Amino acid sequence: MLMITCPWCGPRDESEFTYGGEANIERPTDPEALDDAAWADYLFMRSNPKGWHEEQWCHAHGCRRWFKAERHTVSYAIRRTWPMDEESS
Ligand SMILES: [Zn+2]
Repeated sequence: MLMITCPWCGPRDESEFTYGGEANIERPTDPEALDDAAWADYLFMRSNPKGWHEEQWCHAHGCRRWFKAERHTVSYAIRRTWPMDEESS
């Protein structure tokens, strides 16, 4: 069982959460200026690292707030979580 610590509610079972994908994907400031390849890159291409990376989670069956988590993609270990509006340090 994977336990995820919501920054507001504390540790909860994974079944209470919704995965939101890789964190820190910046939306293009001028989408109209992008060609199809650049737009597709923004929409679909992710880094998919082996190791630690930052991702977004929502406590959908709890406080319904979004936050970031640093998770290891091989072990699934989560070493920290924090609110979306805080820097990752
Ligand atoms: Zn929560």
